[in-house]
This record gives sequence, structure tokens and C-alpha cells, in this order.
Amino acid sequence: MWLKTDSIIKYRKRYILKIYGIVQSVGFRPFVYNRAKKFKITGWINNSGGSVVIDLTGTKENIKNFILDIIKNPPAQAVIEKVECSTLKYYDYHNFIIKESLKNNSSVKFIPADIAACPKCINEVINKKDRRYKYAFTSCTQCGPRYSIIKSLPYDRKVTTMNRFKMCESCEEEYNNNLNRRFHSESNCCHECGPSLMLMNNKREIINCEDIIEKVIFLIKIGKIIAIKGIGGFHLVCDGRNEKAISELRMRKKRPAKPLAVMIKDINFIKKYCEVSKKEEEILTGSKRPIVLLKKNTDFSLPHNIAPNQKKLGVMMPYTPLHYLLLEKELDVLIMTSGNISGRPMEYKNDDALENLNNISDYFLMHNREIVVPVDDSVVKVLNDKECIVRRGRGYSPSTENLGVRDNILALGPEQKNSISLSKNGYVYTSQYLGDLKKLDYYENYRYVLKHLINLLDVKPQVLVQDMHPSYITSEYADSLNIRKIKIQHHHAHMVSCMAEYGIFNKAIGVIYDGTGFGTDGNIWGGEFLIGTRSHFKRVGHLKYVSIQGGDAAIREPWRSSASYLYSLNYPIEKFINNVNRPSMDIITQALSSSLNCYKSSSMGRLFDAVSSLLGLRNYITYEGEASIALENIIDEDINESYICNIDNINNVFQIGYKDIIYGVIKDIEKGVSKSVISAKFHNTISSVTCELVIRLSKLYKIKNVILSGGVFQNEHLLKSIYDELILRGLSVFFNSKIPINDNGISFGQIAAANAIVEGEEI
Ligand code: ZN
Ligand code: ZN
Ligand code: FE
Repeated sequence: MWLKTDSIIKYRKRYILKIYGIVQSVGFRPFVYNRAKKFKITGWINNSGGSVVIDLTGTKENIKNFILDIIKNPPAQAVIEKVECSTLKYYDYHNFIIKESLKNNSSVKFIPADIAACPKCINEVINKKDRRYKYAFTSCTQCGPRYSIIKSLPYDRKVTTMNRFKMCESCEEEYNNNLNRRFHSESNCCHECGPSLMLMNNKREIINCEDIIEKVIFLIKIGKIIAIKGIGGFHLVCDGRNEKAISELRMRKKRPAKPLAVMIKDINFIKKYCEVSKKEEEILTGSKRPIVLLKKNTDFSLPHNIAPNQKKLGVMMPYTPLHYLLLEKELDVLIMTSGNISGRPMEYKNDDALENLNNISDYFLMHNREIVVPVDDSVVKVLNDKECIVRRGRGYSPSTENLGVRDNILALGPEQKNSISLSKNGYVYTSQYLGDLKKLDYYENYRYVLKHLINLLDVKPQVLVQDMHPSYITSEYADSLNIRKIKIQHHHAHMVSCMAEYGIFNKAIGVIYDGTGFGTDGNIWGGEFLIGTRSHFKRVGHLKYVSIQGGDAAIREPWRSSASYLYSLNYPIEKFINNVNRPSMDIITQALSSSLNCYKSSSMGRLFDAVSSLLGLRNYITYEGEASIALENIIDEDINESYICNIDNINNVFQIGYKDIIYGVIKDIEKGVSKSVISAKFHNTISSVTCELVIRLSKLYKIKNVILSGGVFQNEHLLKSIYDELILRGLSVFFNSKIPINDNGISFGQIAAANAIVEGEEI
């Protein structure tokens, strides 16, 4: 007996395996359990902090095959970032078990994002014979809500809002059966034991009916507006083919023009309305299910008021069982817009929704699975066959990027399109889109998500990163903490967000075209040419300053930008601006002459606004970027001409003049040249002057890496024309893709920049 054990020990080995990455909440443990059985491995597995730990014994050959199999074919949703393997003193395990999760604060944590319902679950939901037929909360190890229902890590049912639902016998059996695809599925539930739907009208009366889903389909079909609670919050929903219902929704939501997103039944239906590339199809049908901005077909036949005057439409596919059940043959397109009233973030609690959305929705389709943090739908687009995130939300947040940064840095982000980023164990975690913090309720939500992420990741902030703007509300939070603060200039943060995404450390030329950002000279920047690394930058060029009148009002009223440009060039304002009343023009003229409430601006966003207003496209906007989007949408692609544009070198800072551009635009308007041609000439001008200056800088400073970032680059025509030309000239050009190019990516740039500053101090 003694001899036998000894020979086993020689023959068998014991290892401890630590696997990092997205390995929790994606069915990893049951997967490993089954592989262990296959390769005759004994020992145990558990979730520990954010990793998975496997203590295993087996023959050398089996262990090798077991590990290779896990690494090569992990579950569909898993992402293995790192594997650590070490030997241990042999212990004779007799079987393989899944052990209780361990809280372990020192290890790397991955917070799983919400995952769209998988095909297997959907098949059950639509199968009349299945016990989960029409069950709206069906999920498995491969799908279902995660981040939005997690209170703490490691991921287990008891730390999610599913904890209150005790599994019934059948569900429990699935959970414990290693051959079942719901083996250890923490969100497992069914009609009998899980969350349930409830329908109410806007007087808070419960609507009793036999089949809630059928009833809601009926209500949508007759033109009603329904607030529907989903994964990360409420949507406002109506029939996407009912023009009247859509305009009613617009009126009630006070959203006259901003495009609405639609949910379309399946990919073939989407192709009836929009162009879909292979990459776009992959994203639309994948497991994240964001809103994808697609080009409308020329014979686009859905109601005009979904996305008025837009070339693109925001489309997503259903991503919860409930969506699949609501979308049917005669109801194949749903308007799905964020369930919020103006000034408030998306509602995600039943009571708040009933309270705040009752002037918009006729009915409320709710459920009793609590949402821990609100997460909006993500918005993405495809550029040069690359997925570019426009708004980070459900499925993409929090994001986890291995940048090798030091621990406990907290970046507070900008004031608009906010996100926050935190660092731990070399990783940067970036939150979902948190909106415009100037609005009090958004700021409250910001504080809440900030606290939640700090707790979830167990970060103890030691360095706080802020924007330079002296009056951002984030400073209020910063002031409350007595730790080191680092301020990063807004456009430098844009630049670094892109550098860090592509792993660039060396000096680069940054072209940052943006709306508003506080500059180191106290002026408002936004048409910037920077040369710098992650830690430092020098401003080597910019759009020539103009004095803009009106502060925030100038952003909401593009005619103020055109008036300011006209005034600076001594053109009569009233001659070139139409449809603004005379008293307002007189007031602005006076204000400009006495510099009242004026600020010096080099913002490219304001120049686009000014041209849009001069062409009579938009004098007032109802959503951000509306004026420049209108300008981009009318471009005549066949026009190659441009306006004259000079670059002055003033003490080695290059300044792009706007005088000839404005003059050219005005002359063309007087000559009756079409708006589409003028827009094209304007775009061509900005594109060519940008390339010209970049090439000069590249020669002067001997730098080949060029970064294009900032919100104005959401203008695809501009981005593509500059990118293509600079590539042609032999430069290496980068623009954001995983990190939003707009302010939603700022906090990521802030963390990378602050880390570089701190590291630099130690050299
Ligand atoms: Zn599933
Ligand atoms: Zn059950
Ligand atoms: Fe910005």
C-alpha cells in the first residue's frame, strides 16, 4: 500500500492555475469542471477576487491537454488575459469540485458586462413546449444581465439582485447538474421562481390580463407609448412604423429633432432599410448588441421623423428575451429611446419611472429584478472596418484595459459625456456614459456610480485626475478629498486617450478638433495642434482666436458664433444672418463691441457652427452637434474645390486663419452657390489646411505619429479625408476606436496622462 501511493505521487502532478481575464459569470467554472472530467483531473476550482483558481492533479500528459484545451477553446464570452501556473506539493484529490467563491482583494478584478440573450435561451423562450416558453428573464451561463445587477465581487448569485429569488426545484437541479448548460448559472430562474412582469397604466393602476406581453404588443400596435424596463434601465417604446406615435413621443419627450434609435426584429429586416457591411452585421448580431449607426438605404421607407435629415440610423437587434417576444411579424420595428425626461438621466427604478415618465408613457411594463446601476445602450459605428465606440454603455462597460498603470488613480472625467476611470493592478477600468454633469440629477448619478465602482474594485484613490477647467462640477468632488490632484488639459487628455489605446509612448503630433476645452492660457481651445508624450505637451498650432459672445448660449445658438466671426471681420451681422430677430442682433453687436461676456476661442466646433448658421442650416440647436451634423449631411461629394486659407507662424506657433474661409463662404452665398457645394468646399478647406500643417510639423519636429481626436472628428467626412491624405503622405495616423473620440473617452486619457506624469517624477 505504501509503495503504491509513492508511485502515484511520482506519476501524478499537482499544479495551481490562476486564470485572469473575463472568466467569471461566463460559465467558466462549469466549463472547467467538464473539462476536468474529460481529462481525468481531480482537485477544485473557485472564483477568487476577479480571477479563477484551479488546484489540480493528474498525469503530466492529461494536465497538459487539460490546460491547452481550456486556453484554446474557452466559453464564448470568456477572455483569458493571463495564466499563472505553479507546482504544489502533491495532494491526493479524489474528485473535482466547484468550491465556494473567495473574496480576495489583491487580485485583478474583471467586472463582467451585460450579455445579450443567447440563441439557445431564445429557442426555449419561443418554444411552446419548453418550460420557459415566454419567460422574459430566461438566461444561462452564456447570457443575461451581469454588471447591471452585481452589488459586489466575486460574482455569485448572492451578491446580485437575483438573490431575493430562491431557485425552484427544477432550476436548482439544472444549477447542480454538470451536464446542464445552466450548471452554476448564477442568474438561473424560471416562471415559477424568478422575476416577473407587471403592467401598469400612468395612473399607477395594475392592468390585469392573461398575457401581459400580448397586451403590450396590442397597446403598441394601437399607437401607445410604453415605458419598458430592460437590462440597464427604462426605454420609451412605440411602433417604429407609426409616424403619429413617433411625433407624439417626440412632443411629450420634448425632443423635436434628435434621431431616435430603433430595434429591428432581425438582420434581414435591417437590410431592408439600411446598408449593412460584414463588420456591422457581426456587431449587430454579436453578444453586446449596441446601437449601430448604419447608413440608410436610398429607398429608406420607415417614417421620416425617426431620424429627420440624417444619413444614418441608429439600429439595434433585440437583446433580452422580452424584446424577442415583443417583436413579431406585424411589429418588426420598435422605437427604443432612453427612458428619461430632459434634465434627468435614464430611469432605472420602478417608482422613479412611474413618477417621472408619467407624462410621456401611457403604460409601464416593469419587472421586479432590481437594477443596481443604470447602463444606457452603447452606440458604435464602423469606420475603416473598425468598430468605433461613440458612447460606452451596456455590453461595453465597465471596460478593462491593461495599460500597466499604477494603482489607485481616479480620473473624474470632463463635464459633458462624462465617464470615470479607475486603476488597479495595472488595469484601467472605465465606467459607462454618465452624461452631462451640469444637470444636478446627472451629477447625483455620477457620485453614485463613482462610489459603486470604487467599492466594487476596492480602489483606494491616492491620485485624483481632473480637467483644468476651474468651474467644472467635478472639482467639487475633488475638493472634498485630501489627496494628490493632477490636472490634465482637456485636449491633451483627448490626445493621450488615443495614444494609450494604441500603445504609443513616443512623441506624437496631436490634431485635436473639439467643441470646448479650457486651455493653459485661460482661453477656450478646440482647434489644436499639440506635440507631446503622455505626460507633457506643447501647443504648436491652433485655429486663430476669435472673440465669441455668449458663453454656453453660443453653443446652443450657432448664430452667435457666426455673428462673432462676422463681427471680428467687420462684416455687417444683420446682412448675413437670417431668421434671428433684430433686437438680439443689436444686443450681440453691442456686447461684442464692449467685450461683454465674450471669450477668446480657437474651437473648431464653433467654426463649423458658424458656417452652418451662415448657410441658414441651424441658428438654434436642440441637441449637441446638430449644426455641424447638418453641415456634414449636405456635402456634395463630387466637389474638389476649397477656399483659401493661410497659416501664419507667430513665434513658432502656427495659426490657421479663418478670414479667407468666412470671406469665401459669404461670397459664394452671395453668388447663389448651392449649400452643398459650399459645405464641401468648407470641409475640403479644413481638411487640406490640417494636412498641410501636420506635414510641416512632421518635417520640423521629425515626428511621424499623428493622433486625430476630439468631438469634431465624429464628422466622418472630415476624419476620413484627413486620415487618407496623411496616410498617403507616409505618416502613421491613429484615431480612437475602443475609446470614444468624444468627451466620453477623456477620463481614460486623464488616467494614462497622470500615470505618465507620476512615473516621470521617479526617473
Ligand atoms: Zn443563454
Ligand atoms: Zn425556477
Ligand atoms: Fe472634448
